[in-house]
Amino acid sequence: MPITHLKFPESGAKITIQNNQLVIPNNPILGYIQGDGIGPDIMQACLRVWDAAVLQAYQDKRKIHWAELFMGEKAAEKYQGNIFPDETRQALQDLIVSIKGPLTTPIGGGFRSLNVTLRQTLDLYACVRPVRYYSGVPSPLRHPELVDVVIFRENTEDVYAGIEYQSGSAEMRKVEKFLKEEMGATFFENSGIGVKPISPFGSKRLVRKAIKYAIDNNRKSVTLVHKGNIMKYTEGAFCHWGYEVAREEFGDDTITEDQLHRKYNGKQPESKIVIKDRIADIMFQLMLLRPNEFDVIATTNLNGDYLSDAIAAEVGGIGIAPGANIGDYIAVFEATHGTAPKYANLDKVNPGSLLFSGVNMLEHIGWNEAANLITTAYLLAIDKKIVTYDFARQMENATEVSTSGFADALISQIEEMGHG
Ligand code: NAD
Repeated sequence: MPITHLKFPESGAKITIQNNQLVIPNNPILGYIQGDGIGPDIMQACLRVWDAAVLQAYQDKRKIHWAELFMGEKAAEKYQGNIFPDETRQALQDLIVSIKGPLTTPIGGGFRSLNVTLRQTLDLYACVRPVRYYSGVPSPLRHPELVDVVIFRENTEDVYAGIEYQSGSAEMRKVEKFLKEEMGATFFENSGIGVKPISPFGSKRLVRKAIKYAIDNNRKSVTLVHKGNIMKYTEGAFCHWGYEVAREEFGDDTITEDQLHRKYNGKQPESKIVIKDRIADIMFQLMLLRPNEFDVIATTNLNGDYLSDAIAAEVGGIGIAPGANIGDYIAVFEATHGTAPKYANLDKVNPGSLLFSGVNMLEHIGWNEAANLITTAYLLAIDKKIVTYDFARQMENATEVSTSGFADALISQIEEMGHG
């Protein structure tokens, strides 16, 4: 008999898909995975804030019905060591929209990374990271308010595809022989070998999602970030396929940077999104020096991994940067940091990353009023310098509160806004 620990709340209804659109009931069942390490602390705090905002925004007309799903250490306890049970995977598919805390990948558990497995199993091909500045948050930049970008990182291919051969192994020798003898490649003996597949299918669906997002959210540009000057047939091809999608599928809505200057004299028409590209290394520099020139960014897996943490650091670090992994329909919103084991169960860390992932989740299901209440409450709390330890140590005269204390402060603000 398979083990079952899932219970969907009977009073809730599942999100469905009709005509390629999500249909959101007023009582949607959303999944949550609390996560390991600091996961339980931040998830408990955030669930209270999200619920308070929904209640304040819609009274009894709308309510989220949460279903707890199990993955990571909590799953291992319940499912005889299985850290990613089949019924969790099935529930993430059935519920369509879920949110998760950070997960530990147990060493020797048969998984390279639980998060990578999750993305690949559910084909969540876009890792979406909106990064913007919240006034008052400590930042290393002089003008962090100029940072407002949404990064679309390809999630399923590139060097993360897991095609790697260890130095000295029989497999490596086979690949080395083939590359040297049949393909004429030259490289040092005994090299570990990794393969970097980048496909037209994977690149195009990622860029398509980024352009659609830019159109739906009135963004000004989509920048394709790649290292095509060196890796021509992978990174260069990603850029080429990105422009192809823009031209062939969004021809009426997009122009290239070249057209902007040649045809429009550098003045961007209101109705057009500019598609441009930048080499990855210069992009790191530009995001520090001229961040206001960038809006939506679409990039390959490894570039996106580096770039999203670097850009998040510009506006306060991974403690508050939200994220989501999204496929054609299924979306798993997530805290972008790890499990920070040394702070587990101390009720101490910043719940901001998970909190804003939830804000993005509310926007994703069209509950913008509730999302806005949380953002406003957050700005008011930061303005009063009510913060967790990580921000408190970078601010003067801050009032340091616990994770749950920060949630309490936000909930008070949300309730006050209702009375205002
Ligand atoms: P980490 O993000 O867990 O922690 C690094 C440091 O960042 C912490 O020591 C802490 O100082 C700070 N930090 C992280 N989250 C914070 C928060 N919410 N508030 C305040 N400070 C915070 O990274 P790590 O130590 O490299 O990884 C620990 C574990 O997490 C590993 O097992 C790793 O595999 C896992 N991990 C999981 C995810 C995920 O589930 N998405 C992502 C990254 C790492």
